[in-house]
Amino acid sequence: MKNNLTNKINVKTPIVEIDGDEMARVMWKMVKDKLLFPYLDMNIEYYDLQIENRDKTNDRVTIDAANAIMRYGVGVKCATITPNADRVKEYNLKKMWKSPNGTIRSILDGTVFRKPILVKNIKPSVSTWKKPIIIGRHAYGDVYNNTEMRIPGPGKAEITFTPSGGREPAHKTIKEFTGSGIIQGIHNTDESIQGFAKACFTFAFDQKIDLWFSAKDTISKTYDARFRDIFEEEYNEKWIEKFKDAGIEYFFTLIDDAVARVIRSEGGMLWALKNYDGDVMSDMIATAYGSLAMMTSALVSPHGYFEYEAAHGTVQKHYYKHLNNEETSTNSMALILAWSGCLRKRGELDGEADLVDFANKLEEAAIETVESGIMTGDLLLVAKESPNNKKVNTEKFIDAIVERLHRKLQS
Ligand code: NAP
Ligand code: MG
Repeated sequence: MKNNLTNKINVKTPIVEIDGDEMARVMWKMVKDKLLFPYLDMNIEYYDLQIENRDKTNDRVTIDAANAIMRYGVGVKCATITPNADRVKEYNLKKMWKSPNGTIRSILDGTVFRKPILVKNIKPSVSTWKKPIIIGRHAYGDVYNNTEMRIPGPGKAEITFTPSGGREPAHKTIKEFTGSGIIQGIHNTDESIQGFAKACFTFAFDQKIDLWFSAKDTISKTYDARFRDIFEEEYNEKWIEKFKDAGIEYFFTLIDDAVARVIRSEGGMLWALKNYDGDVMSDMIATAYGSLAMMTSALVSPHGYFEYEAAHGTVQKHYYKHLNNEETSTNSMALILAWSGCLRKRGELDGEADLVDFANKLEEAAIETVESGIMTGDLLLVAKESPNNKKVNTEKFIDAIVERLHRKLQS
């Protein structure tokens, strides 16, 4: 399909593009070539985070990518492999590099908001859910920045804090080991938790939805309780009146209780979760709304940086099929909506109405394509039955969106 090049929309500020791995990388290139470059004149600050390049650069490229987002404000990221022992073997890596998402998030700080992509012809598996459940996942610290150790045999494991300025260190015993085992040290900072709380209250107020926060404060009486108290302080000091006026509520509850209540609810709230809880719960919520590929993810940093990505991974199993020349039907919705989210934010920050309009049309074209019945295999399994339903392959799905987008841009 040809587009008149003189109509290309000019994107003033460079976009920080972070490329990734496997099937997500294959789709990423199709999305750029078919849905973006024909319509946009944009400068890309490109960081290639595919695993081979992270290994080659000793993971420097991941840090450079995060720094570029700090320089320009807005970035978009493809899914990347987080190496485990199998991947170290598969790609002959120098070491088991850390999760790039973990590295980037710990540099930018902030909260990851995960929102399901709702389409009319797919009903959530939980029949009571009528509205989207948005997850606000704290993106700093805890197990993602941990220090852990195998304990080879009997001995005493301790936790020590040595204050700056030469005051007495504080010690606590973790365990008197009588045999082998494991230990782990995790941390968070009041500043980061305050940023997390502020981002969640701001988001909920902006969208006029209730905010729920849950943690395991009955068991973790210092660590999780600190999160609870900081949320409480933020609410009492800055939001109590505003929330009342807007007719929305904040409430804290134990995570077990929250999980049970979420399932019984109608949805329509922001559920704030600690880093690990948010990681795990967002996959469950995405799947219940139809597919892992129907969930967007945006990192909002308290310092004013934004990073957009898909919530799913590199779709390894589909990639191996693709390498085998077998046909794949992999869903690019979340990657497309990562780009539209990034472009919309860039357009808003730069006052570029054309770009915002393009981003909106791109998103509409993608959603309407699925609603018209053209979909990938993951969605066909869960979509409302209709004679219009048609499973298409990875590329044809993107082509169908291109066709719709082209029509929208011409009208
Ligand atoms: P995954 O890539 O999310 O895929 C898990 C399964 O979910 C797939 O096998 C597929 O199910 C389904 N799925 C996910 N995305 C889909 C899509 N776009 N279209 C259709 N189906 C989709 O998770 P994984 O297999 O556990 O992890 C693979 C790699 O991704 C790992 O190396 C992991 O480290 C990495 N990862 C990266 C990120 C990130 O960068 N944000 C997040 C999570 C995982 P079927 O096979 O049943 O079709
Ligand atoms: Mg996850």
